[in-house]
Amino acid sequence: MRPAILNPLFAEATSLSGVGPKVARLLTTALGTSPAPARIVDLICHLPASLVDRTYRPTLRDAQPDRIATVTVHVLEYLPRRISRQPIRVLVADETAAMEVKFFTGREDWIKERMPVKAQLTLSGKIERYQDRLQMIHPDYIVAADDNSNVPEFDVVYRTTEGLPARSLQKLIRRALERLPDLPEWQDSAWRKLNDWTDFKPALLAAHAPRCDDELAPSAPARMRLAFDELLANQLALALFRNRMRAKPGRSLKSGGKLRAKVLASLPFQLTDSQSAAIAEITAAMEENTRMLRLLQGDVGSGKTIVAMAAMLNAVEAGCQAALMAPTEILARQHLASLSPMAEAAGLRIALLTGRERGAARAALLAGLAKGKIDILIGTHAIFSDDVEFRDLGLAVVDEQHRFGVHQRMLLQGKGDAPVDVLVMTATPIPRTLQLTAYGDMMVSRLTGKPAGRKPVATRVISSSRLDEVIDGLRRALAKGRRCFWVCPLVEESGVLDVAAAEERAASLRKIFGAKVGIVHGRMKPGDRDNAMRAFQNGETSLLVATTVIEVGVDIPEAAIMVVEHAERFGLAQLHQLRGRVGRGNAAASCLLVYQEPLGTVARQRLAILRQSDDGFFIAEEDLRLRGAGEVLGTRQSGLPDFHFADLAIHQDLLTAAHDDVRLVLQRDPELKSARGESLRNMLYLFGRDAAIRYLRAG
Ligand code: ADP
Ligand code: MG
Repeated sequence: MRPAILNPLFAEATSLSGVGPKVARLLTTALGTSPAPARIVDLICHLPASLVDRTYRPTLRDAQPDRIATVTVHVLEYLPRRISRQPIRVLVADETAAMEVKFFTGREDWIKERMPVKAQLTLSGKIERYQDRLQMIHPDYIVAADDNSNVPEFDVVYRTTEGLPARSLQKLIRRALERLPDLPEWQDSAWRKLNDWTDFKPALLAAHAPRCDDELAPSAPARMRLAFDELLANQLALALFRNRMRAKPGRSLKSGGKLRAKVLASLPFQLTDSQSAAIAEITAAMEENTRMLRLLQGDVGSGKTIVAMAAMLNAVEAGCQAALMAPTEILARQHLASLSPMAEAAGLRIALLTGRERGAARAALLAGLAKGKIDILIGTHAIFSDDVEFRDLGLAVVDEQHRFGVHQRMLLQGKGDAPVDVLVMTATPIPRTLQLTAYGDMMVSRLTGKPAGRKPVATRVISSSRLDEVIDGLRRALAKGRRCFWVCPLVEESGVLDVAAAEERAASLRKIFGAKVGIVHGRMKPGDRDNAMRAFQNGETSLLVATTVIEVGVDIPEAAIMVVEHAERFGLAQLHQLRGRVGRGNAAASCLLVYQEPLGTVARQRLAILRQSDDGFFIAEEDLRLRGAGEVLGTRQSGLPDFHFADLAIHQDLLTAAHDDVRLVLQRDPELKSARGESLRNMLYLFGRDAAIRYLRAG
């Protein structure tokens, strides 16, 4: 049960006056809580992104153009409009000069009421010079001159969304902050004193009211305190989960390695050294009498699948079943296709379970699973369904887990009381810092390097103004029988617009390449999606327009060219993943990163990194350095924690401190029963990590 003191914070935003259904929807978008409705706590955790300084108060004659200024003027007249589409122009002046105030939208009577002729007004906004005249377009503030108090010295600006003006959002956040109760301190008092930090509430209020850029910076004391709190919640949740798992009995899965040997002998290649090493580590961990929770990390194309297969063979040989879970149906099917021959070589039974297996077929499959007639089950998250019962599941492998959240992973291992070993595979080269936040102290096996014979993918960064050249290149490649991906970006987070963009692109490419063009996206019916993938796989189509559904894992050796549109919108790790989709066969492969101008300096540097390097870890570290953790992996879909306050590129030391603090806390008070423990529970709720409270025996 959530402590009552926190209840006001967990009310929906609609409980604020002025928030009806429409504003609520906009808030959901602006605060990124979708599909959940925005709550008070989401508002108060939305910190200002920038600051507008309105303390510059020049006379009009002295005013520097393009700077935010607050000026006091009187209204002279409304200038005549020759055509009705002309902006409404109001001539104002002080003792030194005149200026035009322009309105491109807005009703004239409304404006005249705010700015009546002869009135003395204080205006605040950007003053510009236009054709030798001063102008101010849509002032941010229009107030009576004797009411200067209505123009704040500093305006905080919040990231918002179209349709929700920053000022409205600001007001709502201010109202939400009024609901913030005083909360008992959860930080260690010596630590807090050492850092000279205030309590949580004053810190949050201060973070919302910066008065200079230093106070807005992530290194400002208020922001540091909040970042630490957030990291502490993250580390505590992971540690509680881990302790719970440790406390449960494990089981030793011993295998002689016969099945493994049989399957490996059937492969047309030799394992790389790091594949062999990883298999040995995992085999040893499975034999141990505890629950395995292990990360298998390896760059795209490093050959993780076979390592996972070896682990599953261990489990089967030890008399259990194994499951492999993929984030998309496409991937699950692909795993089935590539693992079936291996399973056959070992005389094992393998089956597929996705959301699409229904009715009698599904019932038969579930029965087989319960009786132990199926050794290896491949599937999507459909495997989580309550009615899916194994006779004896020994190992669960989660592939490309960055699409799954930490919570789902906890679910998988925490489900029931059966001691299941878990192997999590990730192709996302997660920088070490991020790894700690996503996995805590998880054990890691790492695949370094790639199987021999891989050629680097030639990578070009090219402006969308040169799309013609890209198309010419495609024409030549397609004529040679090559296959190409064309990826359209995620537009916002809706998943609707990106589909529209992809369909539009497919239509325009069809005009050029006709029936060779296929399309696949996340909103297609699964059957259509499979057909589209199959058509591309067997060459019926040779240019596949896709949204990022193809990002992870798809293995089509004939694919030689990867075009990514709006590359500047992707995380580098994502682009690296996409690039990894080509160059798997023998032909020379290339990746064209098409960007939209204008491209900022950081964006340019980022794309240049991809051109320079083919090393996923290097790329991820550089991306972290340039952009900050939240963005590196595209938070929403990354499965990495989505931090409001902490920026791991800056707060790394705080993460380490939080990690150590958690260890001490749990040594002294493993059930969080002390006074501080109670406060820490509040903190877990506040930061949305309360699922971890279930892992307290007494919780
Ligand atoms: P990822 O790590 O991206 O999941 P996969 O497991 O899909 O990579 O492997 C990519 C490709 O490399 C597959 O076609 C696989 O058969 C092949 N492969 C895996 N290991 C080796 C190896 N040791 N030598 C040659 N090819 C390999
Ligand atoms: Mg893979």
